[in-house]
Amino acid sequence: MDLGLTGKTVIVTGGSSGIGLASVRAFLDEGANVAFCARGADRLADVHADLAREFGAERVFAQALSVLDRAAVEQFVAQVANRFGGCDALITNAGQGRVSTFADTTDDAWREELELKFFSQINPIHASLPLLQVSNAGAIVAVNSLLAYQPEPHMVCTSAARGGVQNLLKSLASELAPKIRVNSILLGLVDSQQWQRRFEARADQSQSREAWSAALAATKKIPLERLGQPQEAARALVFLASPAASYITGAQLELSGGVSRFA
Ligand code: NDP
Repeated sequence: MDLGLTGKTVIVTGGSSGIGLASVRAFLDEGANVAFCARGADRLADVHADLAREFGAERVFAQALSVLDRAAVEQFVAQVANRFGGCDALITNAGQGRVSTFADTTDDAWREELELKFFSQINPIHASLPLLQVSNAGAIVAVNSLLAYQPEPHMVCTSAARGGVQNLLKSLASELAPKIRVNSILLGLVDSQQWQRRFEARADQSQSREAWSAALAATKKIPLERLGQPQEAARALVFLASPAASYITGAQLELSGGVSRFA
């Protein structure tokens, strides 16, 4: 199936690692030009250099910034427009989860988490809207989590924020139609840098990565008995962002190995 992405331009936030990086690669494989951002300049530069070698420097653009800095995001998108002549799809992926119960989440931590979850959507969407509106294939795909519908007691604050984001995306799917489609993916556990960090901080330092990962899948009762891979999330993002998904908006696709308990 031709996804119709050849020659299109895609922005991926949080593109230097994990799901974002797998998505950048997958869009490049499909023939799109890709612009991506992340905060850490060194890792971003290394990733950019590798991709430029592999796919051609004219097809990739990277800039170090936080998606919470609205002015920096606007400047980034303006450069994308200069460089590629527009933007057809936006993947709002940048971010991370916060492990905390209600009891141990301070007011400042609430504000920080709500700002991260909401403005990591709002800033890139605001900045990209004028470009997406004049594309003939405008699409936004957000990376969200099953926590939006299935809160976990050890991630109370993140779960509540993710529920709100899912609600926002539904509103946007209606407000931005028919020019721009808005969809999301709901992740379970995907084996990225976030989980590598938790592996490195494991209680039993003698446990191998494979044993740690299998034990985690068993504890979480994942029917497919493993964590997902970033490439598996990337494939869903690429499809939903592509013209091949032209009649899909306001939808959410679960990538969880079957772990969800809601209908
Ligand atoms: P990684 O840590 O591997 O990648 C996160 C990426 O986002 C990095 O490139 C990071 O770079 C970037 N990033 C983080 N904060 C910002 C910011 N404020 N501005 C710009 N870039 C930022 O994690 P994942 O690939 O797992 O995560 C991707 C998304 O998926 C995240 O939003 C995460 O919360 C979500 N998710 C992941 C799950 C999983 O199991 N992996 C489950 C549910 C949701 P840098 O640090 O240099 O900025």
